[in-house]
Amino acid sequence: MVATALNTSQSEAIFNAAQKLMPGGVNSPVRAFKSVGGQPIVFDRVKGAYAWDVDNNRYIDYIGTWGPAICGHANDEVLEALSEALSKGTSFGAPCALENVLAEMVIDAVPSIEMVRFVNSGTEACLSVQRLMRAYTKRDRLLKFEGCYHGHGDMFLVKAGSGVATLGLPDSPGVPKSVTEHTLTAPYNDLEAVKALFAQYPDEIAGVILEPIVGNSGFILPDPGFLAGLREITQEYGALLVFDEVMTGFRIAYGGVQEKFGITPDLTTLGKIIGGGLPVGAYGGRRDIMEMVAPAGPMYQAGTLSGNPLAMTAGIKTLELLRRPGTYDRLDEITKRLATGMLAIAGETGHEACGGSLSAMFGFFFTAGPVRNYDDAKGCDLEKFSRFHRGMLERGIYLAPSQFEAGFTSLAHTEADIDATLAAARDVMSSL
Ligand SMILES: *Cc1c(COP(=O)(O)O)cnc(C)c1O
Repeated sequence: MVATALNTSQSEAIFNAAQKLMPGGVNSPVRAFKSVGGQPIVFDRVKGAYAWDVDNNRYIDYIGTWGPAICGHANDEVLEALSEALSKGTSFGAPCALENVLAEMVIDAVPSIEMVRFVNSGTEACLSVQRLMRAYTKRDRLLKFEGCYHGHGDMFLVKAGSGVATLGLPDSPGVPKSVTEHTLTAPYNDLEAVKALFAQYPDEIAGVILEPIVGNSGFILPDPGFLAGLREITQEYGALLVFDEVMTGFRIAYGGVQEKFGITPDLTTLGKIIGGGLPVGAYGGRRDIMEMVAPAGPMYQAGTLSGNPLAMTAGIKTLELLRRPGTYDRLDEITKRLATGMLAIAGETGHEACGGSLSAMFGFFFTAGPVRNYDDAKGCDLEKFSRFHRGMLERGIYLAPSQFEAGFTSLAHTEADIDATLAAARDVMSSL
């Protein structure tokens, strides 16, 4: 089968104009397709499992606006709730009952959360939580893992040092060394490295923050015992354990990875799904820690648009849809069909590949594997992934434009969508 070249002339015209207006033509870097080459497509509209570009090409979408669209894009019930809320206004800057509703839902769902604060993005949630970690423990050092993303706050932009854990050097110009020198890094899944850092700085580490399942260096699962080990070490040293569940919250299970694996952190960050496609983030956890946050306590953090009625409404409706019986079994089943199908096809067409899925999250790498951390992920065939990505795009399959991103499914994806995706993958992999 020969792929018909996609007509993307409108996309090209709009993106070319955008490059003169906004840095790199985008408002968030990965959208620019830099790591796979070629031009990004410009979206016109989305619905269910599909996105349409400005040239009217349809794609089966496995990015789902980077996570929020777990009920499918532009879900009718979410839209209906939103249009009702819209008639009452877009922002209050004052308490509103909807905040209580979503707060109760989050507290009921997420094991570690007894109190919650809503913000406007995952970045803001992580920025706030690191301040809280430090305020509560009166310690300055943070420990993060190579390849884990916690938004673009200065203290998290630390280059992954290879091999041994190292003191952080800034990953981006503009980030002062005086900020990142407090950020320690260790390889993911390496408990020994974590123990060594705690032994070196026994009274200085405020806490450990991690993606309890990694999605930001590809899809990487924690080794058995890794999360439990972190729980033990942090307790031993009086440090906090923070799960950044901005991506995994309400995706891996209704209560996130902490519910799925039964490990309860002290604090949790959320985002993406809890906004149902509108800008929301949240952080929450143990009541005695959360009561440090202003105005209950002295740790300052605020937001003009935080808890706004539209975002709360989209979040509430999305969680209502997710807590219906069978949701996560369904998501797990179709996602497994996709991930195992991809690996089988890679094997049959002679490509080394590894990967997997859990609930509504999946990933695969062009390497024999296993991939247990960022260094392993970097060892895969990026050039092959670029050609695969372009081939899939030309066949109407929209995958994350980077080998270092997990994929997402939604309740709107059907068996037929998965089968069409696998047929496209067979076609592309046969000629890679
Ligand atoms: C997306 C993401 C963030 C940042 O959230 P934004 O809403 O993009 O600021 C933080 N942590 C993790 C794990 C994420 O996946």
